[in-house]
Amino acid sequence: MARTKLVAGNWKMHGDSAANQALLDGIKAGAAASKATLAVCVPFPYLAQARAALSGTTIAWGAQDVSRHAQGAYTGEVGAAMLNDFGCRYAIVGHSERRSYHGETDEVVAAKSDAAIKAGLIPIICVGETLAEREGNITGQVITRQLDAVIACIGAAGLAKSVVAYEPVWAIGTGKTASPEQAQEVHALIRARVAAVDANVAAGLQILYGGSMKPNNAKELMAQPDIDGGLIGGAALVPADFLAIGAAA
Ligand code: PEP
Repeated sequence: MARTKLVAGNWKMHGDSAANQALLDGIKAGAAASKATLAVCVPFPYLAQARAALSGTTIAWGAQDVSRHAQGAYTGEVGAAMLNDFGCRYAIVGHSERRSYHGETDEVVAAKSDAAIKAGLIPIICVGETLAEREGNITGQVITRQLDAVIACIGAAGLAKSVVAYEPVWAIGTGKTASPEQAQEVHALIRARVAAVDANVAAGLQILYGGSMKPNNAKELMAQPDIDGGLIGGAALVPADFLAIGAAA
């Protein structure tokens, strides 16, 4: 099954109205040259700004997190239906910064993925190993554990409506990138694990690589057979870099 590529920006907790406008305008101006679908995942308060800037374009927008709860007395949480209300297509879930700074377990990540899907959003489900785990030769075990929790919760039908992002924690924001071979090995493992549940879903699943993807390494990474795009942090804040990654897809 032919898979299209997706390049999604994770703005993290950066920006303000003026800086975001310049970023959105810059991305819009060059989006036509992108070979990948482009998306930006912005901080919650700027979803309306993203919607206003990107409605009617080919660029999608989304959030960086979503509550596992549909609604109710959950102070500070933002529900999937609310994201839908702002026209989001995507919600990142289980980013390693959420897992490590906010204690999100595999089960919480799975429940958030489920909540997103139930509201019609596409979760970008992040998995990835730490440096200690890679050096301890348990990368495969860690990725399988993270993925299996998601599969147990949303099943193949849920994965058919999801995107998975492989983000080695040691490569995020560090300037250290997984080699194309290292990344491909894990992407193939993810696809094989999903194929064991449903071969068709696995064949169609977009699996993004994230971790210091930049214009100078994007082409080689995305040329790998199981790498279907990128989840981009730092380079997503510079229109020329983000667009160059889209053009390299
Ligand atoms: C990320 O935060 O998802 C990410 C991949 O960051 P960076 O590209 O800066 O490593």
